[in-house]
Amino acid sequence: MAMMPPLDEATPLVTLEHITKSYGREPKQFVAVHDVNLRINVGEFVCLLGPSGCGKSTLLRIITGLNTATSGTVLYRDQPLSGVNPHATIVFQTFALYPWLTVRDNVEVALKARGVAPDVRRQQAERLIDTVGLDGFEAAYPRELSGGMRQKVGFARAMAVEPELLCLDEPFSALDVLSAEALRGELMELWLNKSLPTKAILMVTHNIEEAVLMADRILVMGKEPGRIVAELPVTLHQPRNRKDTAFQAVVDKVYAAVAGRTVPDSLGTAPGQPGQTLRLPQAHLNALAGLLELVASEYGRVDLPWLSTQLALELDDLLPIIEAGEILGFVAVLEGDLLLTPLGQAYADASILARKEMVAGRVLRLPTIGWIYEILGRDDNQRVARDYFIDQLRSEFGDWADEQLDIAIDWGRRAELFAYDDNTDELFLES
Ligand code: ADP
Ligand code: MG
Repeated sequence: MAMMPPLDEATPLVTLEHITKSYGREPKQFVAVHDVNLRINVGEFVCLLGPSGCGKSTLLRIITGLNTATSGTVLYRDQPLSGVNPHATIVFQTFALYPWLTVRDNVEVALKARGVAPDVRRQQAERLIDTVGLDGFEAAYPRELSGGMRQKVGFARAMAVEPELLCLDEPFSALDVLSAEALRGELMELWLNKSLPTKAILMVTHNIEEAVLMADRILVMGKEPGRIVAELPVTLHQPRNRKDTAFQAVVDKVYAAVAGRTVPDSLGTAPGQPGQTLRLPQAHLNALAGLLELVASEYGRVDLPWLSTQLALELDDLLPIIEAGEILGFVAVLEGDLLLTPLGQAYADASILARKEMVAGRVLRLPTIGWIYEILGRDDNQRVARDYFIDQLRSEFGDWADEQLDIAIDWGRRAELFAYDDNTDELFLES
């Protein structure tokens, strides 16, 4: 392992300067991460939070040197990073254990790779297994363990390399609620007691409460392109309690930062013409209808964390519905709350028939849907093949053309504007 001078606490552990990562080539180039600047200091627990696809894993891979940036600089302890960072380790969502090795041997593998002598190896492995609370399972095989226990072995193995920087990529999201909570608690205890040689933790998550529970600082990311949109320090002292008012206030603030991005001023142009076309969010309009109903029953304003609990929806599923509500003009996000706009209020007060008309009117304003409607109207039979639309959409949305058309069909059908014939793969106007 590369020797490094002793750690100077004032030197940031990680510095990213103007990091951009693109995949593919022009003209189909896709910017996954755009101009990210960040710094992780010694002693900090930092969370990267954002919806899926915003580039969290990409950033983690760039920081650990598993992937290179298209442009920008990665500094580790003020030195440019080249190649894989030997001082950093990543724990992934599901940790790959060797099924033919026992728990002890799975942890020892990491020590062996570092050239630790066999007897020392054994001792260290046993101590780590104890540390993560797997005492008594040293001789068990992965198949005998629950998901939570396997993830603990993963943590033990990651800690065996004594990383200065511990990177966690949604490490609890594949676990059941109770195992996740237990493992979070154990990690926090190790970190806060300084039982780990680790100098900083960088955790990726899309779970807002988890971020507020654990982090000293939360970096909120947005997508298209992936970038940091807000930075929020969390100064609540540890251990934190989810039920505290102060805790909930921070959760609200983070929700506002995540969901409160402003709706674009313009909905863009129709596909096939130059310019940016608004991308439709992956949401069903009946889910939006349910959401509006619920907000209306709460007098037009609800707390976003409360909403997520009531609907039992994860952030990744809730955000697209809110986004759909925003672009159609029915809701707005303000200070961690979701509000009905006057239009949303009118919708909630309207009869079923009037509601359909309101939705149809709003949906038709969206460039992609208005464009489809117009093309169908111009056709003699008012039927046009799916492929025709896909070809046009591809120039605007690339690989997302199919996804965009499917959403447009779903919304168009719901608004009773047009429908889809599965037998002929054609779109047609509803008479
Ligand atoms: P997150 O971890 O926040 O869900 P990722 O970093 O995995 O996001 O991905 C960010 C974006 O980059 C996504 O749209 C994803 O599809 C894209 N992406 C990731 N890896 C590749 C790759 N190897 N080639 C092309 N696109 C990729
Ligand atoms: Mg990811």
